[in-house]
This record gives sequence, structure tokens and C-alpha cells, in this order.
Amino acid sequence: MSEIDRLLAGNRAHAAAYANAHDKHPSRRVAVLTCMDTRIDVLAALGLQLGEAHVLRNAGARVTEDVLRSLALSTHALGVDTVVVMQHTQCGLAGGTDEALREQTGADLAFLPITDHADALRADVDQLASTPYLGLVQAIAGLLYDVETGEVTEVVRWERPS
Ligand code: ZN
Repeated sequence: MSEIDRLLAGNRAHAAAYANAHDKHPSRRVAVLTCMDTRIDVLAALGLQLGEAHVLRNAGARVTEDVLRSLALSTHALGVDTVVVMQHTQCGLAGGTDEALREQTGADLAFLPITDHADALRADVDQLASTPYLGLVQAIAGLLYDVETGEVTEVVRWERPS
């Protein structure tokens, strides 16, 4: 069986037990940006249920143009007011360089490698907090997920001054 056929078979099992979340608006008004890493079960890691949060994923959980595009819609169209950026230990983007990643992939892209999780989280939280069209966001947290223990550590928290 090809991998795509396995995925479609997996869907048939999922659809048989599907519980519709009914509403496209995240009921806890939360968006979570995290890494594409296979070891993170995002909803379970934060005690979230289907329908409660937007989940955005990319390599490294970094703020990119596409993340900003999604958050503009999350906040203005779908009621999100809290954003969590969750990096993780043993991330493939940690410790590398743009130069090495460009050579490895042949892609002339900004890979946004992570030298220090705390520094990267602070930079990304600062960028989100200072993005004018994300003015509906009231709180942002930068978290680090430990892939060995499942524990989350809060690294930085920003709240909009009232
Ligand atoms: Zn990662």
C-alpha cells in the first residue's frame, strides 16, 4: 500500500468516529505557532481540544510572512486574541546556519535557524507584539517544549498595556 493510500485509509477510520467542532472560531481565542516536529502533539501538549485553537506549524516555529498572514486572519476574522509561540528542544533548526541549510537544501531561503531558544522566542514575540495589524492581540507567550519529558517552560510573556 502506498503512503497516500495509508493516509486515505486512516481517514476512513477517523471519519467513522468524527466529532464535529461546529464552529470555525477558536473558542478559547488562541492561536499556537509551533514546529512541524513529529514529536509534538500540539493540542494534547497544551490541554486543548478540537475547536479551541488555531494551530500554525512550520520548521522551527518561527514568525514568517505566512504566519503573519494567518494571524491577521485569526485575529481580525476569527476572534483570536492570544498567541503562543512554542519552540522545542532538539529542534532541527537549532544550532545550524542559513549558509549550511542553503547548501544542504539547494534552496536560497531564509531558514531562520535558532542559535538560542530564549533569544529567538523573545525576537519573535517582539515582532508579533509590534506588528501594527496584530493590534487585537492582547497576550503573547514564548514557550519551550521539552520533547523528552513533554513539559513546557514559559520563556517570555507579553501583555498589551491597557
Ligand atoms: Zn523543530
